[in-house]
This record gives sequence, C-alpha cells and structure tokens, in this order.
Amino acid sequence: MSTYTGPDCRLCRREGCKLFLKGERCLTKKCAMERSAVVPGQHGTSRKKVTEYGNQLREKQKVKRAYGVNEVSFRKYYDESANSKFVTGEHMLSLLERRLDNVVYRMGIGASRAESRQIVSHGQINVNGKNVNIPSYRVALNDVIAVKENKRELEMFKQLKDAKIIMPKWLEFNTDKLEGKVLALPGRDDIDLSIQEHLIVELYSK
Ligand code: SF4
Repeated sequence: MSTYTGPDCRLCRREGCKLFLKGERCLTKKCAMERSAVVPGQHGTSRKKVTEYGNQLREKQKVKRAYGVNEVSFRKYYDESANSKFVTGEHMLSLLERRLDNVVYRMGIGASRAESRQIVSHGQINVNGKNVNIPSYRVALNDVIAVKENKRELEMFKQLKDAKIIMPKWLEFNTDKLEGKVLALPGRDDIDLSIQEHLIVELYSK
C-alpha cells in the first residue's frame, strides 16, 4: 500500500473540508481551504455526479486522513466497533479520538496530529509515569499524560506556557506542569470534524 507524500492541503481540498493537518496555519487565512476549496486536479471544477459508493468512500478517506491512520488500522477500529455493544460509527470515532497522538494534539502539546505522532514516537511523552512511544496507544479514563521530565526544557514545550489552547471538555492540561489528564472518554459531541460516520458503516457493512 502506498503512502501519500504530497502536500497536506491537497488532502483537505480533495475531501472538501478542513482536516487540520498543518497546525496553526489551519486557523489562519493562509489555509488553502479559505483561499480556494476547489478539488485538486485537471477536472477539479467540473461537476460530476457522485455515486453513493463514492460518497461513502470519500467519508472514509476523510476520517483516515484526519487521524493519519492507514487502511489496515482503520479497518481494525471499524471491526472492533462493529463487534462492540456501542453504536458502531460513534464508537469508532471515539476509539480514534483516544489514540495517544490525537490526545497529545488535543492537549495542544503538538500543533497537528502529525507533529504529535512524532512527539510520541520520539519518546517525549509519559502516560501514568511510564514512557509510551506508540502513537496508537489508547488512553483510558483518568490516565495522566505528561511531557517527559528531561524534555521539558525543549523550546517547543516551554512555548506552551503562553499558548492559547482550546481544550475539549474530556481533557485537561496544565501548561506549567506540562501534564494533563483524561477526565472522561470522548463522546460523539467531542469530535469537531464534520463526519457522517454512518456512510463509513454502510461502506464496510456491504
Ligand atoms: Fe491546509 Fe490546514 Fe487548511 Fe487543511 S485545514 S487546507 S491542512 S491549512
């Protein structure tokens, strides 16, 4: 399976919505979606009837790209959710949201999920006092997420003291201590991307 290595903004334009892949830039007028939301490519402006399958596929790609997971991992999240007692689509999003790289991003430690993934895989994050370098690690209720002590003097972490972080209500983060906590498990309302998860469920249940 090939890995996409092109510009991040192209993915947003392809999916027709902001996927917030580039940190602060996504919140400014420099965002490519603010300037032109045209689908990339030669036929970007042409009107084409999108099939039901096409819609379902796009929705899946959108979520995969936003969370930065590959097809195999994404399918595992779906299968686990489908086999759970919870509503499949909502539970799948909740599991994705509980990935450690996403939590590091949501806490504002990393500017994007990609940067947060790097922070985690470089061993800069502790969970409950133990170093965890697996971006897909799933956080649990009351887990304490902290920047590793010997990394706290790095400029990128010192800068967090002045950062304005919009914290989801299921998380807290203390920018002085560089430590946060999972206050609740994320629900559907906590996921701010515009996602029609039922389309993904329809796609996979065929
Ligand atoms: Fe680029 Fe971010 Fe805007 Fe997406 S949301 S187009 S990644 S700047």
